[in-house]
Amino acid sequence: MFKIHNSLTNEIEEFQPLVEKKVGMYSCGPTVWNFAHIGNFRTFVFGDILRRYLKFKGYDLTHVMNLTDVDDRIINESAKRNITIDTLVTPFIEAFWEDLDSLNCERPEVAPRATEHIGKMIEIIQSLLANGHAYESDGSIYYRISSFPEYGKLSKIKFAGNIEGGSERIDTDKYKKEDARDFALWKLVCESEAAGWDASFGRGRPGWHIECSAMAMQYLGESFDIHTGGIDLQFPHHENEIAQSEGATGKPFAKYWLHGEFLKINNEKMSKSLGNEFTLRDIIRKGFKPLAIRYLLLSVPFDKQLNFTFENLRGAETTIERLHDFRRRLRENYCCDGADSNFREKAQDFLDDFVAAMDNNLNTSVALAALHNLVRQTNIAFSNETLNTADRRVILNAVDKFDAVFGIFGETKEEMLPAEIENLIKERKEARRNRNFARSDEIRCLLNERGVILEDTKDGVKWKRR
Ligand code: AMP
Ligand code: ZN
Repeated sequence: MFKIHNSLTNEIEEFQPLVEKKVGMYSCGPTVWNFAHIGNFRTFVFGDILRRYLKFKGYDLTHVMNLTDVDDRIINESAKRNITIDTLVTPFIEAFWEDLDSLNCERPEVAPRATEHIGKMIEIIQSLLANGHAYESDGSIYYRISSFPEYGKLSKIKFAGNIEGGSERIDTDKYKKEDARDFALWKLVCESEAAGWDASFGRGRPGWHIECSAMAMQYLGESFDIHTGGIDLQFPHHENEIAQSEGATGKPFAKYWLHGEFLKINNEKMSKSLGNEFTLRDIIRKGFKPLAIRYLLLSVPFDKQLNFTFENLRGAETTIERLHDFRRRLRENYCCDGADSNFREKAQDFLDDFVAAMDNNLNTSVALAALHNLVRQTNIAFSNETLNTADRRVILNAVDKFDAVFGIFGETKEEMLPAEIENLIKERKEARRNRNFARSDEIRCLLNERGVILEDTKDGVKWKRR
């Protein structure tokens, strides 16, 4: 039974989708005005683990992750550099996908850009104006928080006083609001400003929160299963998304809210505003492998803070190398025939432990401990020459299942080097001379899996890449 921590109820709950076997999931994506840092990527790697695990559990998943390509920072930056928003953000969108690929994160099914969904935002704001949840003041439109008594149900913040609840990242509108908690849905823009859209309620640009309500509802419907993001988005961003969406439709918005904890550095949140961030590119330039960064980011469960140090990263790099060597050895080295070392059972125990850990609120560190246990047992059997070829298949299959979720091996994508291929061909020839046909067939299969095809010709064995 898959259980997850739902911030909305603050309970660990059994996951039950709204429609059997199907999952709709929305993740707040990056603001594309800069390269994302590895703190941001901790949250995106957590989203990737969740999406992969849902697929592993057999769900038909639609994952939507937006790109915030309009907000105050983007508008100010493009105005300062005298370029269009599109010219500013396009290279950062491309860089984001490249970074996500190098971290071996799967791409979401849908990746909408905010500027391409202004029509849907306008539609929601019109509904909110019509039903009294929104009001106009000085040409801008605000959400009336007093009209939504459930406000605060996600963050559990008690709004006894007039707490500033809905501020944009940069809020200059305080004096125009009925109540300090109210937040902007639509900001007045004068004719001379480039970043503006026409709406029935006046020319303007959207607030940040309405973007996510619009894109989530556009692709997943008014109610859907899972909403994710970093813990800093829980309030006010996600609280405001709920108020806007439920205010407009009268229906529950997301059923489960999952929040990823911070990546910290020197015990402070990693963030651009504090100037303590490392982009993924900074780290790769220092010579670290992206898969080591992935390993480090997911080595601690998503709901626990993780303090980044280069020492930890070096540790992750060593672990990743050891795991990659393990799988290479398992695939390519000679195994004896016939010895029974109970690996069928051990591999099954490993898979059971992995699933039990992930079912328990995605406990990645316990799942990794199960993997390391299997690696240890297998390495011992290897050294003692008690691992047979059938065991080897069973272990490889189990590790592949695990890696469909963790994505830390990733080495199958590498092409085999000609010298590696020649060595295996030599070993195959030797095996045939010794009438060890099981091993010779195995080598053929192994090469085939890695895209190398063998041809037995009268002039000897030839190979080519598929
Ligand atoms: P942004 O591009 O600022 O909208 O942030 C993208 C995602 O990264 C959001 O889900 C944030 O909550 C998340 N995030 C930002 N800083 C950190 C951090 N230090 N650790 C983990 N997640 C973070
Ligand atoms: Zn969002």
